[in-house]
Amino acid sequence: MTKAWSILPDEWKPILADRGLRPFRADQILQSLYRDYIMRWDDATTLPKDLRETLKTEFPITVFDIRETKTSADGTKKLLVGFADGQCVETVLIPAAGRFTQCLSTQVGCAMGCAFCASGAHGVARSLSSDEIVAEYMAGRAHGEITNIVVMGMGEPFANYDETLRALKLINAGRGPNLGARHITISTCGVVPGIERLASEGIQFELSVSLHAPDDELRSSLMPVNRRWPTDSLLEACAAYTRATKRVITFEYTVIAGVNDSRACAEALARQVRRVPQAKVNLIPLSPVQHRPDFRTPDERTMLMFLDVLMKNHVQTMLRRSRGKDADAACGQLRLRHQAAGAC
Ligand code: SAH
Repeated sequence: MTKAWSILPDEWKPILADRGLRPFRADQILQSLYRDYIMRWDDATTLPKDLRETLKTEFPITVFDIRETKTSADGTKKLLVGFADGQCVETVLIPAAGRFTQCLSTQVGCAMGCAFCASGAHGVARSLSSDEIVAEYMAGRAHGEITNIVVMGMGEPFANYDETLRALKLINAGRGPNLGARHITISTCGVVPGIERLASEGIQFELSVSLHAPDDELRSSLMPVNRRWPTDSLLEACAAYTRATKRVITFEYTVIAGVNDSRACAEALARQVRRVPQAKVNLIPLSPVQHRPDFRTPDERTMLMFLDVLMKNHVQTMLRRSRGKDADAACGQLRLRHQAAGAC
């Protein structure tokens, strides 16, 4: 039994042929799935009934439900998407001028254990399958046409590489939802083999790398992944990636008051980032998380100082604002609240 949303558009014809089904049915199936966006095979009314029955048993459409929807004052929506086994993940919808960005999760929880992140506060329950990641997208597009995807929700995409890439390739496919590869950003906490693999895919997805500290001592204290792949090996992999793909890498730097927010940190960050050709930096003020009350959001002055130091060092830098704070949109918080209430 293969889930319909895990099958890439080009795979349908051979799969149908194997079962003695006529190839033109593949076009009808794709129309139903990705033009009509059916959620149940019964709604694929262009298909004969017996074929619908076959599809139901052999290629079921993933069942999901929306456990909760939260809308924040800035228009950001956060959905809690539940799956058949009761597990659930968050997906966030972020409207901005001319854009409608969806933030996707790839795992239930996260094993990476970054100190400031709510998603990893209780480890990982399981990884999502590709069809479940596509289901999140389907849940999102019910709220409007998605123009951009960022894989910055719960989980580490490169700890679930195959399923994540399959889902993104499906969403990108011309005869699928057809979302442009350059509108899809994968964010990793620094899993070097994943960066190397992505470089060899020959696909134009955007890559973000969560750096958050300029040196090994500080980075390891915030992000255990740094002990496995220290800063030097990470930056070397990033430089190799930009050289091989000619693509930009964006480094994410979450600024935490009194932890990684000194001028010396900013200067060291600029030096590190400049080792990678075509690198950019996104500066993000920390969103407070319940399990670390000692981690606080920096003030505006600190953010501007960071920006200033990076710009003076010719590093292309963007100041990002946190969105959807009043919807618990900061990385895993809505699910934690649900868990605490015994809901999933
Ligand atoms: N595992 C991937 C993607 C998920 S996290 C990664 O680490 O990149 C998406 C981004 O949110 C990462 O840059 C992460 O470090 C950041 N983040 C996590 N918790 C945060 C918090 N409390 N405040 C601000 N940014 C946070």
